[in-house]
Amino acid sequence: MTGTVYKSTGSWYTVKTMNGKFYECRIKGRFRLEGIKSTNPIAVGDKVQFELETKNNTETGVIHRIEERINYIVRKSVNLSKQTHIIAANIDQVFLLITIDNPPTFTSFIDRFLVTAEAYSVKPILLFNKIDTYDDEKLHEVKYLESIYRSIGYECIEISAATGYHIDKVKAMMEGKVSMFSGHSGVGKSTLVNAIEPSLELKTKEISEQHMQGQHTTTFAEMFDLSFDAKIIDTPGIKGFGVVDMEKEEVGDYFPEFFALKQDCKFNNCLHLKEPKCAVKEALENDEVSYSRYRSYLQILEGEEETYRTDNWDK
Ligand code: GDP
Ligand code: ZN
Repeated sequence: MTGTVYKSTGSWYTVKTMNGKFYECRIKGRFRLEGIKSTNPIAVGDKVQFELETKNNTETGVIHRIEERINYIVRKSVNLSKQTHIIAANIDQVFLLITIDNPPTFTSFIDRFLVTAEAYSVKPILLFNKIDTYDDEKLHEVKYLESIYRSIGYECIEISAATGYHIDKVKAMMEGKVSMFSGHSGVGKSTLVNAIEPSLELKTKEISEQHMQGQHTTTFAEMFDLSFDAKIIDTPGIKGFGVVDMEKEEVGDYFPEFFALKQDCKFNNCLHLKEPKCAVKEALENDEVSYSRYRSYLQILEGEEETYRTDNWDK
């Protein structure tokens, strides 16, 4: 039998088959997926093959194979082992909710998120939420951000989870796909999911870092079918969208507009810093690359925390 993993509790996996039946499955023996070192061999979203077993009149499954993943996102465990935990696999897209204020979302945060999504090969979509609350100045900021991100190929939608504005557009984009939602606490993720599917109460609430450090986290990702042809992966207790370890040389490759220019840099390992004949720096001087994007790039290279406010651009 084949199916998709909807839930995992560590030792048991809830698998849904094509004809809609759920089975509780275990993993056979010391089964491990080659090439990936993680605390969990199978994650929510994985496509698996399993065989049925009947014991004491209950049917359970034994997983013996995982299909190759199109992508997966990870979390580094905070305990000493520093092992990787696979949060979810086979994600079609991730929506980032952005608010100009209440809370503010900094461009450095957006750009970090986009870099992570690019590194994971998950398609990001930017949702500018709480549109109903903005004055002209705030709306202008939204338009400005949209112009930056649209120019480099990212889809942007203005929404209001509270009034329902453009929720139809979000739903249309979700059809036939597995989606995740991300963004700071308070940007409206729960409200949006509720607007999309009122019967679904997701637990998308972050637990504090201290809590996660103090003990084993007992929260796991879970997949939900919606009433229209769409799936959501909820990751309660998991802050943000994970972190990817990358080399300095790689970072620029996850800025699509820098990557497109890289071939014109004099050095093929150009970091776009102080190298001569750098196409990215030239584009920056000609206003063809956004200064806030370049600044985020520098911050990621330096490993800095986000310190800039979206309402504080000097350009
Ligand atoms: P989460 O932490 O991302 O899940 O955010 P919530 O969904 O809990 O929303 C935080 C607060 O913002 C709540 O008081 C919501 O009612 C409010 N909120 C969310 N979306 C909107 C919106 O589009 N417009 C307005 N006016 N308020 C919103
Ligand atoms: Zn360069």
